[in-house]
Amino acid sequence: IEKENEKENEKEKEMKIEEVHTTKPDQRISSHSHLKGLGLDNNGEAILTESGFVGQTKAREAAGIVVELIKSKKMAGRGVLLAGAPGTGKTAIALAISHELGPKVPFCLMVGSEVYSSEVKKTEVLMENFRRSIGVRFKEVREVYEGEVTEITAEETENLYGGYGKQISQVVVGLQTARDSKQLRLGPGIFENIQKQKISVGDVIHIEVATGAVKRIGRSEKFIQDGQLEYDEFVPIPKGEVHKKKEIVQHLTLHDLDLANARPSGGKDIVSIVGDLLKPKKTEISEKLRIEVNKLVNKYIDQGVAELVPGVLFIDEVHMLDVECFAFLNRALESEFSPIVILATNRGVSKVRGTDALSPHGIPLDLLDRLLIIRTLSYTLSEISRIVLIRANVEGIKLDKESLAFLCKKAQATSLRFAILLLTPANIIASINGRDTVIVQDFQECGVLFYDAKSSAKLLSEQKDKFLD
Ligand code: ATP
Repeated sequence: IEKENEKENEKEKEMKIEEVHTTKPDQRISSHSHLKGLGLDNNGEAILTESGFVGQTKAREAAGIVVELIKSKKMAGRGVLLAGAPGTGKTAIALAISHELGPKVPFCLMVGSEVYSSEVKKTEVLMENFRRSIGVRFKEVREVYEGEVTEITAEETENLYGGYGKQISQVVVGLQTARDSKQLRLGPGIFENIQKQKISVGDVIHIEVATGAVKRIGRSEKFIQDGQLEYDEFVPIPKGEVHKKKEIVQHLTLHDLDLANARPSGGKDIVSIVGDLLKPKKTEISEKLRIEVNKLVNKYIDQGVAELVPGVLFIDEVHMLDVECFAFLNRALESEFSPIVILATNRGVSKVRGTDALSPHGIPLDLLDRLLIIRTLSYTLSEISRIVLIRANVEGIKLDKESLAFLCKKAQATSLRFAILLLTPANIIASINGRDTVIVQDFQECGVLFYDAKSSAKLLSEQKDKFLD
């Protein structure tokens, strides 16, 4: 049994997570791993090739100003639209903005078509992504005190194996805090802790008192409330040790809090449930619950315990959204908790989905009015060549001169994204042929095996009768 307990302890240690980050889709992000920032100098001017970025200087400089606006909290109620042809670096710029804002600012990436799920309402998908993009920074001051166990009560309860046995039901600790002396009655939530540590009457235990209200995620303990105080760590300490203070900072998103509170849990208090985060379970998050979470966060902000960290919500292919979603976006931009919304599209004047109205980029005018529009321009051959070389470097792929020129031409004819996509397959073909450098024939062979979007579409129209509508 002791071994089992030890194993459990080890598991708990492993489970201890000080910070919980939003699980964001990183599949597309990996194709941008060469980007480290916007690559601007101290005057906000783009350095031609810097931080993995090549060219696109105007757009990068504009993005730099957006970063400044976000940092000085002047972007509320506004958004950014990145408009440009496919593969001109719109996603790359959005990611670079997030890099510039730092790792503690949430960044959430979604594609417009994601809202069309058969299970979840369109606006629900948007709402969830909105809340994933809003961070809450909790700051807790924890004070550590000594307390003497004055009483332990136990009662007869059914145990795991169906039999009956004594279980501790309450531990009373005399606690001398800076303000006053208290008798703490510690409830069932900490039984396990106490039993494992074999605490008995007369022991002096170490009690961590959180003046804030947020729990560290992933710990097995629940918290016990006594007025404003919470107690969550009970560690026997040598007598006479003095108490100390420590500060704990935790970064969560509103969505993390929604999720944590949507799950049924023993404790009623909204934050005690955060500990349940590790149990993955699909639960409906209701509007009512979100309002409750907002209220709670506002309360903590008023108390100076929490601070809102608006992050970035990037919606690629925004023209895929329909009029209902755009109405939601408009409203959401106005709301008290709103992230910085960055939209991207490669469409010109087109129909707003769900209507017959034509509008620039397929976005309704009232929303367009709120957006700062940044254009991304097509790349020159030499820019393409530098970008391809950076990517090849990142992926550890060697190209000879001719194959580089060949691939750059391909990028111009199809798209930069497609050309970058061909790097790895061509490298595989090269290594099958016993080479460590990719040559033109490898790309040609790739061209036989893989179609780009345009040639695939051409093939479809040529062989229309052979495909299902
Ligand atoms: P789409 O309209 O198809 O969504 P996009 O405009 O978002 O395309 P990206 O996905 O950002 O284009 O760019 C394609 C690839 O080229 C990515 O791997 C990106 O990191 C890289 N890239 C684009 N522009 C630059 C640049 N200026 N410097 C370095 N890499 C770039």
